Amino acid sequence: MKISDLGEFGLIGRIQKLASRKTSSTLIGIGDDAAALKLSGDHILLATTDLLLEGVHFDLSYTDLYSLGWKSAAVNLSDIAAMGGVPRYCLTALGIPPRMSVEQISEFYRGFKTVLTNTKTALVGGDTCSSSDGLFVSVTALGEIEQQRAIRRAGARPGDRIFVTGMLGDSAAGLEILQNRKSGAGGKKAAFRNTRSAAAELVRRHLRPVPRVAEGRKIALAGCASSMIDLSDGLSSDLFHICKESSVGAQIIPDLIPVSPALRKYAAEQGRSVLDYAVSGGEDYELLFTVPASKLGKFRSLRINATEIGSILNGRMMTLADKQDKVRPLVPSGYDHFRKSPKSGPMRKNRNF
Ligand code: ADP
Ligand code: MG
Repeated sequence: MKISDLGEFGLIGRIQKLASRKTSSTLIGIGDDAAALKLSGDHILLATTDLLLEGVHFDLSYTDLYSLGWKSAAVNLSDIAAMGGVPRYCLTALGIPPRMSVEQISEFYRGFKTVLTNTKTALVGGDTCSSSDGLFVSVTALGEIEQQRAIRRAGARPGDRIFVTGMLGDSAAGLEILQNRKSGAGGKKAAFRNTRSAAAELVRRHLRPVPRVAEGRKIALAGCASSMIDLSDGLSSDLFHICKESSVGAQIIPDLIPVSPALRKYAAEQGRSVLDYAVSGGEDYELLFTVPASKLGKFRSLRINATEIGSILNGRMMTLADKQDKVRPLVPSGYDHFRKSPKSGPMRKNRNF
């Protein structure tokens, strides 16, 4: 069905039916001039917003609308997770090009809703208009946290250990597979099609990341992290944010970085090092955090799926140190929208899904 057959308000009505999870603290949700929302007790509000543009952040030639909806919610809620907060509400603003159908927008909201359900978050408002260019998605998430528990990028101290949840690099490999399929790249690259299940796993990790809300919350409640960030730009770039905000340096042991069997297989077939993906690749949406030595025991008793990968040092240098104690600099390599180099435009780096 064409969106023009349904009209703006018809479409909003459909979005409301599809995705507005009302909770008992949603006093006023979709349908009025503004939503009215309750926070619990003496909690403070966390607010974050993300803008996602077709052709810059995602490519609809290899991204299905369900995955796009899923990822739009996930990347936003990941920011709440990275503060240690509880996501509560979100708002979505869409600019929709005339070529898109009601069914496509519905698929977007089905994917979006799955992540909301998994994280007990309610869609409480937004805005909808037509776009003369590509699809435009803006998601705002609101969360809450006890004031003293919010975990910031600043706070890491020399001697703290560095941890990550999950596995790194899968998303970047998944993106590469999708881009190679699109461009019909042959040779070594195509050979990986023979390892279907590993490829499917990497692609899934790229299209449908899971925000680490439960882990972030556990870490915050236990009070054992001195700093935290989510991995959107890649380990090297996001660790740099922690180092900069905390005025410290860091050393990572590459052999300790957790990588999946699927990535090992893929990197081997490509003749590449897994570190190319795990250190520089973005969009894993795992949590990167630091734990003071005095809190390691308590942290380990939480049994969070996380791996120690290095430690915070004095100074401002970031380095990689391998087993032979060879030390080399770790240079932040994430994408910057306004400092483009011809070799790393947004469609080449991990900026599209
Ligand atoms: P206004 O003219 O006050 O901006 P709208 O007609 O745009 O109101 O929106 C009507 C209601 O629908 C509001 O509650 C708004 O938050 C909600 N809404 C509009 N678009 C969306 C969307 N894409 N997702 C969720 N809620 C939406
Ligand atoms: Mg409006």
